[in-house]
Amino acid sequence: MKTSIYLDNAATTKTAQEVVDAMLPYFTENYGNPSSIYDLGTKSKEAITKGREQIAEVLGAKSEEIYFTAGGSEADNWALKATFEAYKNKGNHIITTKIEHHAILHTCEYLEKRGAKITYLDVDENGVVDLDQLQKAITPETILISVMFANNEIGTIQPIKEIGMIAKEHNILFHTDAVQAFGQVPINVDELNIDMLSSSGHKINGPKGIGFLYIRKGVKIRSFVHGGAQERKRRAGTENVPGIVGYGVAAKRAADSMEERTKKEIELRDYFIGRILNEIPYVRLNGDPKRRLPNNINVSFQFVEGESLLIMLDMKGIAASSGSACTSGSLDPSHVLLAIGLPHEIAHGSLRMTISDETTKEDLDYTLDQIKEIISRLRQMSPLYEDFVRKHQA
Ligand SMILES: *Cc1c(COP(=O)(O)O)cnc(C)c1O
Repeated sequence: MKTSIYLDNAATTKTAQEVVDAMLPYFTENYGNPSSIYDLGTKSKEAITKGREQIAEVLGAKSEEIYFTAGGSEADNWALKATFEAYKNKGNHIITTKIEHHAILHTCEYLEKRGAKITYLDVDENGVVDLDQLQKAITPETILISVMFANNEIGTIQPIKEIGMIAKEHNILFHTDAVQAFGQVPINVDELNIDMLSSSGHKINGPKGIGFLYIRKGVKIRSFVHGGAQERKRRAGTENVPGIVGYGVAAKRAADSMEERTKKEIELRDYFIGRILNEIPYVRLNGDPKRRLPNNINVSFQFVEGESLLIMLDMKGIAASSGSACTSGSLDPSHVLLAIGLPHEIAHGSLRMTISDETTKEDLDYTLDQIKEIISRLRQMSPLYEDFVRKHQA
């Protein structure tokens, strides 16, 4: 059915109209190559400079520390692969967590095959990394700590300031995948001692296919794409001018509206979580109840298959996401839900809903009614549930 309620803003967001409006002239009249010296090229070059400045300002960074990429995955790949190469003489050890996005985890696996030693930190039942374990994992060979700012599945926000301090004390580089956090929570790279940070346009109402890696001045890093001199010779290729323009506007818009927007989202989020936990039996909230993204709701229903729930929600016009790695065609439950200690059968009954500033209380009330009905229908068909009820009545 046609989607009428979109609750999957962690997957991607609607491009804001003001972003589209800002981008359009860079497809039509201002199509010049930013490297060209005539007026048309200069216009594009100026637009890139402005986008870079808008983004740097949100982070408290210098604009020359922002390197545009084709998205969050590329920025994550770059940070890890290029650090591994550039700091070979110092060591080969990287510390990350078990709950990173696959752009980090699969890059780590790739580097392991090339001689890297990777420590994957555990998280507690709320998805928070263990700082003691982090301290203990550090060796003289450790070159990089990469811990995501906020988790894309369960919304947990990590103690980034503390991690940054630990990294700085030990003179180790600190990278954070901030794709879900940038524009949602205040970030200042100096206050948090962040050396590298990844972000992506389409997660903040900007366009798809554009992202950036913040690289603190002084950090040695290899070029990611070789060719022309774009991005200060670090990332060759004619710049995605409309993308950069849109991203700059999206970043400014997200930062300017952050306080008001997230306050409203947190209210709606907690209202919805409260109703789910109160009105549906055998359900649990995943992720930290307080230290979580303003727009994230992730719950597991016992005796229910998440995939069936999603399909039935879709039939009611509701778009959400499950916790399992269904996109890869595998039926393994999400690595994040397993890392917080959920048994397979509970992890399989998970549902992630991520709201936006356009989500209303009515949307969530309607969604809750549908979830209630679907859950009770699915449970009636579940032999496990039947067994459970029989035992409890006995
Ligand atoms: C979406 C996402 C990415 C990947 O970003 P793309 O721009 O889609 O490549 C990386 N990390 C996290 C945490 C994400 O949510």
